[in-house]
Amino acid sequence: MTEAGGREEIVSAAVELERLGLNHGSAGNLSLRVEDVVLVTPSGVPARELRNEMIARMPLADAQGAFEGPLPPTSEWRFHLDIYRARPDVAAVAHMHSTYATTLATLRRPIPAVHYMIAAFGGPSVPCVGYASYGTPELSRLVVEGLKDRDGALLANHGAIVVGADMRRALWRAVELEALAQVYYLAAMAGEPVVLPDDEIWRTVERFKSYGPRREAERG
Ligand code: 13P
Ligand code: ZN
Repeated sequence: MTEAGGREEIVSAAVELERLGLNHGSAGNLSLRVEDVVLVTPSGVPARELRNEMIARMPLADAQGAFEGPLPPTSEWRFHLDIYRARPDVAAVAHMHSTYATTLATLRRPIPAVHYMIAAFGGPSVPCVGYASYGTPELSRLVVEGLKDRDGALLANHGAIVVGADMRRALWRAVELEALAQVYYLAAMAGEPVVLPDDEIWRTVERFKSYGPRREAERG
């Protein structure tokens, strides 16, 4: 992927997240890694106002927030960069304030295996990481810890985050996480949802290695 292509993908992903109701206004942010460069949304710009040239460009090797671009990068640049450093398998990150995921995050409630789609996140639960102010190194530390062995997490009293090997896969998880959070919320309101056994979820995690949006080269 070229940097020009990456900018385009970020802008369309931001518009798509807003269209799907998973982000609103300037909430949330997106990034893509292109080799040793990270392309990130600028801070405080609503999706509909976003243009390719506004995407900030940050060298992955710099820990001080150095960037090129007409606008400062997202206030969450630390967690975007730290995730790529900790997870070489990840090339796309999406952060949302989607309603049901954020509702569970205010309850500080991780999502258990109430639906087999939890396997899309790499295990039998989606964790809820602790609270730290937005944009802080402490929030970044908590997020990286939460994503150590999962591809999605809730952020206490804040929102959610998903990762992927590319933007299509990150968006797939953004949609699935909100759907899972909604189903869990509604089921917990109506009664006591049944939690699937761990071994069933681990088998599904294996099956998901060949399911869902993948790069052309990965398709059988
Ligand atoms: P930015 O506009 O700086 O990306 O902040 C939005 C947000 O969601 C902070 O957590
Ligand atoms: Zn946020």
